[in-house]
Amino acid sequence: FSTISTLADSVGALKRIKEINSLPLEDQFDIVIDNNKKYDSVNAVCFNNVTFSYAEHVLGQKTEEYDENLILRDVSFSIKKGECVAIVGPSGAGKSTVLQLIERFYEISNGSISIFGKDYHTMAREELRDKITYIEQNAPLISGTIYDNLSLGNKDITEEKCICALEKVNLSYLINSRFKGLYSVIDENASELSGGEKQRLAMARALLSDSDIIILDELTSNLDSLNERIIKNVVDELRGIKTIIMVAHRLSTTMDADIIYVLEHGRIVGSGNHSELIKTVPLYYELAKEQMLVK
Ligand code: ATP
Repeated sequence: FSTISTLADSVGALKRIKEINSLPLEDQFDIVIDNNKKYDSVNAVCFNNVTFSYAEHVLGQKTEEYDENLILRDVSFSIKKGECVAIVGPSGAGKSTVLQLIERFYEISNGSISIFGKDYHTMAREELRDKITYIEQNAPLISGTIYDNLSLGNKDITEEKCICALEKVNLSYLINSRFKGLYSVIDENASELSGGEKQRLAMARALLSDSDIIILDELTSNLDSLNERIIKNVVDELRGIKTIIMVAHRLSTTMDADIIYVLEHGRIVGSGNHSELIKTVPLYYELAKEQMLVK
């Protein structure tokens, strides 16, 4: 019993980690849940003229500092269901902020965001979180078994599915080398797992997730090329089945995306596929050149 309650507590904690950050803000907004509105089957995520400042959250009101500290300015885009989209740009451009707004870790200052055609202010947090799996570089592990860490309490996830997902991220040895296999306990702090192994375990979660939208935040930043390739393989496997939205510094991770948005100082300065952007967006060309993807 104690294991189950530990798992339940941990899964709850995992889900709440990000929510806690924004809890006081949520209370400031009137949220009208609309269960009758049907989902749009074409667009997964739409940003309409989204403007955002952390200052508003920190200071609690719009002040002169607010305009100076705008992180996103009039950002608009539509991501179709099943598309694989990347957001790239220099450090501090606002890429992770876009991802965090999709998950509603913060409230936007102006504009609107809709998920499958529903204004996300009309969606309960749970409903929103069911639609989206957010995988970040330091994806937290829960105290429990390898199976617990993969299933996150979802009983529909079978042993076979877990074993298959582990194979795809090259982690079968984690269970093969342990006496209790899938039911071996791993340390919550995972000091026994390397950074790459933790990120691949997080990718196995993505493979097992039943959310429609998978968000990948800077997964390949500190990875060697073998780990990067494994993560790219998982992305390829999910393509067309899920809507994938990713941020990565390495353009080699994102260059195959259907659409790449280039963000600079909180504005979208270009969009298109890799070869279009090389020709049309000087900033993208410079980033590609820095990373030796063009001469
Ligand atoms: P990087 O590539 O370095 O991760 P990024 O493009 O993802 O950068 P963000 O993390 O979205 O950029 O940050 C955009 C700006 O917002 C930065 O100037 C950053 O300092 C600021 N910022 C990010 N998070 C917060 C926060 N919680 N409170 C205040 N400012 C923040």
